[in-house]
Amino acid sequence: MRATLMYGAHDVRVEAVPDARLVEPTDALVRVTRACICGSDLWPYNSMAPSETGNRMGHEFIGFVEAVGSAVRTVKKGDLVVAPFAWSDGTCEFCQQGLQTSCLHGGWWGGTTLDGGQGEGVRIPQADGTLVVLPVGPDHALMPSLLTLSDVMGTGHHAALAAKVRPGHVAAVVGDGAVGLCGVIAARRLGAERVIMLGRHADRIALARSFGATDIVSDRGEAAIERVRELTGGLGAHSVLECVGHGESMRTAVSIARAGGAVGRVGVPQEATIPNAQPTFYANVTIAGGPAPVRAYIDQLLPDVLEGRIQPGRVFDRVTNIDGVPDGYRAMNEREAIKVMIAF
Ligand SMILES: [Zn+2]
Repeated sequence: MRATLMYGAHDVRVEAVPDARLVEPTDALVRVTRACICGSDLWPYNSMAPSETGNRMGHEFIGFVEAVGSAVRTVKKGDLVVAPFAWSDGTCEFCQQGLQTSCLHGGWWGGTTLDGGQGEGVRIPQADGTLVVLPVGPDHALMPSLLTLSDVMGTGHHAALAAKVRPGHVAAVVGDGAVGLCGVIAARRLGAERVIMLGRHADRIALARSFGATDIVSDRGEAAIERVRELTGGLGAHSVLECVGHGESMRTAVSIARAGGAVGRVGVPQEATIPNAQPTFYANVTIAGGPAPVRAYIDQLLPDVLEGRIQPGRVFDRVTNIDGVPDGYRAMNEREAIKVMIAF
């Protein structure tokens, strides 16, 4: 089979690799039909040290179950399934509380030991806890939105929950990538009355508006903070969704939260410390968040997608086949594309 490997910064290759296969009785084998490139894939794309062996890439995918191990009960050959960006057993202490990204027997796709989603086949550890069967066919019009349940829609939802979005709240979203755009959907879905999007790209702003953003702030740094303060009567936003992970974006996020408000952070932090510790402390601002337990959120968000109430699949503005994956990384990195879908 063929799969995507990253060998270093700006070095993505599609290569022949050994076929995915069952190893443990709890495994399933999935033939991938749709996958995508993630904003978080761009961190290593810009910084990975050269590697002899390369890392298998991709953690968002939909596909058909081709085979299951003897212990698998909830999925069977022929099922169309979506995989969350982390795999989990579904039964441990943390899975039972809905925090599957901390599963005691779980882990992450790709790297040097597991298959990644940007390839033709994936061995699925802990298949019962991980996979969710989709009640549609592979060419269904909702496929892009269903694919976002692997990561970006669930991650935007997690940011909104961590930022304690409630009906009537003013929410602000820092980051106009796919996660930030899904954060707009999530904040509105949870009842936010106003959603302020901080972003500067015309295509992303248009999409944010159609997802329900009511105000756009295109300034940066201090000017952005000032502008959000102006828009909120000097008080700041109740709920801030931090969807980037840079020190600068985190500084903006904590600076636009109002006293007693909350920052929900889902951008992987690229710096060791959280900025503005003292002002944030004195304002009683909650800072919460982390990797989203999207496995739990698939169950919550799937009905909204199936019934068309939310359309997060609109974040995909480019489709490629597996040969186009390296160029897809380049296009996303250069902000030429918001999010690239891979159709197999
Ligand atoms: Zn678990």
